[in-house]
Amino acid sequence: MKRFQPQPGFVVQAYRFALDPNATQERALRSHCGAARAAYNWAVAWVTASWWQRKAEESYGVPEGQLTEWRSWSAYSMRKEFNRVKRTDPQFADWWDENSKEAYSSGLANAEAAFKSYSKSKRGERKGKRVGVPRFKSKRKARLSCRFTTGGFRIEHDGRHVVLPKMGRIRVHERANGLRDRIAAGTARILSATVRHERGRWLVSFQVEVKRPITRVARPDVAVGIDLGVKTLAVMADSTGEIRTVPNPKHYDEGANLLRLLSRRVSRRQGPDRRTGRKPSRRWEKANAERNRVHHRVANLRSDALHKLTTSVRAEYGTVVVEDLNVAGLLRNRRVARAIADAGFGEIRRQLTYKGQRNACRTVVANRWYPSSKTCSACGAVKAKLPLHVRAFTCDACGLVLDRDDNAARNLAALAADCTAGTGVAGDQDAASAVSKPRGADQKTRATTRSRKATGGRAGGATLPHQRQQETRDRRQDTEAQLALW
Ligand SMILES: [Zn+2]
Repeated sequence: MKRFQPQPGFVVQAYRFALDPNATQERALRSHCGAARAAYNWAVAWVTASWWQRKAEESYGVPEGQLTEWRSWSAYSMRKEFNRVKRTDPQFADWWDENSKEAYSSGLANAEAAFKSYSKSKRGERKGKRVGVPRFKSKRKARLSCRFTTGGFRIEHDGRHVVLPKMGRIRVHERANGLRDRIAAGTARILSATVRHERGRWLVSFQVEVKRPITRVARPDVAVGIDLGVKTLAVMADSTGEIRTVPNPKHYDEGANLLRLLSRRVSRRQGPDRRTGRKPSRRWEKANAERNRVHHRVANLRSDALHKLTTSVRAEYGTVVVEDLNVAGLLRNRRVARAIADAGFGEIRRQLTYKGQRNACRTVVANRWYPSSKTCSACGAVKAKLPLHVRAFTCDACGLVLDRDDNAARNLAALAADCTAGTGVAGDQDAASAVSKPRGADQKTRATTRSRKATGGRAGGATLPHQRQQETRDRRQDTEAQLALW
């Protein structure tokens, strides 16, 4: 599938609204999401059946040319075949016309994406973890979700209802006036609508091509370094020398006592048992819903706080420097996993990056192996070791004494100062993607660590100026290219 390119001056963004469906509409929503899942499972079975067939034929010694043909996993050919069999296949014949055709297309498009990821991953053309063969989605576990790309979906004039295919008018929990007015003024156009069940609520997410003028930040020339931590969520040191701290709200810990109580209540009641096929009791379901409500509240509080933090940072500073933390790796450590997952390190970086692009500001991602905590922010000397429990940084070379996190944040801000030298704030939107690294450390960064170890050049920060130069040069080239384009 080709990526959609918005017209110049426009961006593609999501507008998400919580829905308040009535009982009939809720049933229709569930039916559509179930239909998407059924079509997905049908596609996985249809394509993989030809693989098994070929394998069996090969074992009988059928010559290469006479083997069953591969079935194509393109959404087009799967849709063609699906539309041919849906009237006769006993799996679909009785009920397929109860749902919008978009529900089935949505499942087939997901199947295509799954096969594509698998085949790319197998050929080594895909970053990240290896992707396996697409598997069936379980009714019990699969996320309820379905996407409409064509058909009658819109926001009603009253701003209180959305219209979805086959389901009609569904009440929106909060008003959708903002998007409605933008559409009326011609500065927004809805491309698709996705419904999804999340945290006990139905949500609709409109993918919208919207005109977005670049907003000016309050201090475009100031760079800020952000050091994330568990004790204090973020220490922010800017290039003027000011240091601010953001306390860690610890939402999970707040709900932990209540969750313990409610979980105990759940486990005392008759829960479902897959081995014996026992159905959960009404009282169990009630207690479980009560427990889930607390989980949902914690998640909502967390996402609200993170959005407020990242938006305020992005509205103020022209340059933001964050560390390229290996969050997935940190989460494997069972001592700190809960605290880090609760703080939302990965999400903070993701939001800072995309909100920066929207303000045409820059995001600098410090190298994963950049010793931000171990470097002296005054003289640049690098310590060999600084265990986590040592909260104060004491420099052996110049005698500087500073809080550990303040020192790290200052180093990050200094990194930004190097990068921004001379250019002020330029509207290089692409710079963020040019500097940011994919998840998982690459070979290059690993090599630098090894060589640093090998030469024993830790003291004095032998590799540091080189690293800085590298980043600076990259950045300058980017800016120059950008300016030339302008
Ligand atoms: Zn020093």
